[in-house]
Amino acid sequence: METNTNDKILYLDLRRISESFQPQLGQAVERVLHSGWYLRGETTERFEQDFARFCGTDYCVGVGNGLDALTLIFLAYRVMGQMQEGDEVIVPANTYIATILAVWRAGLRPVLCEPCADTCNLDAAEAERLVTPRTRALLPVHLYGRLADMERLSDLAAAHGLKVVEDAAQAHGACQPTGGGQPRRAGGLGDAAGFSFYPGKNLGALGDGGAVTTSDPVLARTVRALANYGSEQKYVHQYKGVNSRLDEVQAAVLDVKLPRLDADNAHRRAVAARLLAEVEWGRIGIRVNVAPTPDNVFHIFPVFTPRRDELQRYLLERGICTQVHYPIPPHRQEAFAAEYGHLSLPVTERLHREELSLPMSPLLTESEVSRMVQALNEWR
Ligand SMILES: *Cc1c(COP(=O)(O)O)cnc(C)c1O
Repeated sequence: METNTNDKILYLDLRRISESFQPQLGQAVERVLHSGWYLRGETTERFEQDFARFCGTDYCVGVGNGLDALTLIFLAYRVMGQMQEGDEVIVPANTYIATILAVWRAGLRPVLCEPCADTCNLDAAEAERLVTPRTRALLPVHLYGRLADMERLSDLAAAHGLKVVEDAAQAHGACQPTGGGQPRRAGGLGDAAGFSFYPGKNLGALGDGGAVTTSDPVLARTVRALANYGSEQKYVHQYKGVNSRLDEVQAAVLDVKLPRLDADNAHRRAVAARLLAEVEWGRIGIRVNVAPTPDNVFHIFPVFTPRRDELQRYLLERGICTQVHYPIPPHRQEAFAAEYGHLSLPVTERLHREELSLPMSPLLTESEVSRMVQALNEWR
């Protein structure tokens, strides 16, 4: 399908993405519809097995959304006796607020860490400075789809007896470089990981969904029980749990989309490669900090400039829709004014002032990318 050159380039065209999975997507939903079984059934079980295999973990537990996935990991560590109320978890200060809310909701203390200004990810050296006797975990976020420095963070965790929990909500399929052998993927790089299948993520449902991946059998069982009213056996409740489950319709949708995830991520990487090669970033005075390598699945293509708002307006005039991830950092949000309002985090604050996300999707066409390149190169 040719797109008219006057058409808007949407930031992310979810309708077009859903339609690219037809007719299989509709058929999968219909199969669930006609099965008469909508929760905790074989479709969810199949997806959990497929996604665990994809991530290289022994277990995957489907849950209601990404926030719950992270929250349930920490609640599980608490009922397992490995973390106590008020224990500390080090998180990057420039994350989406869900990361911090998850720790908070589990009764633990999120300790905000300035990110590495270049990678935008958790900085191991900064994190080390924040370790105290109460620290129990590091919670790296693979922000914008780029893996955090898991090697250095794992070393830091090992040195202090900390858990490493990945917020993998933006990084489905991101691979750690290995010298040959099986690639190690986001979700299998720490002790546990939380995923979101929010529709706009690289692997997205037709509504809310999430998952916990881990190779720890006790953690997997505890998360599964906590997510099901604290129960492993019907009407027998071991914990004060919650209700947070991936449903059969969403699992069916995700199982249709999962086999194309690597190819979709490769397309995003190819778009990124063209933007990186063809836009004269230095000349136009816009910073980019990414490379089209397997450790980045380009959930977002971020660029940085002090003239961010001006650039956003200019691109919109050219029919190119962009977003900002994120306009207000968590420590400047009213919700956390009491806890973090006094903090000054200049690296984080600068990223939030200067970041602009260009359109990025597995279905961007060559001509759309060419229009983006031309518009950016004409920016003065
Ligand atoms: C999307 C996202 C979440 C939350 O996922 P939901 O499914 O929307 O609850 C958590 N962390 C990060 C980094 C995210 O991007």
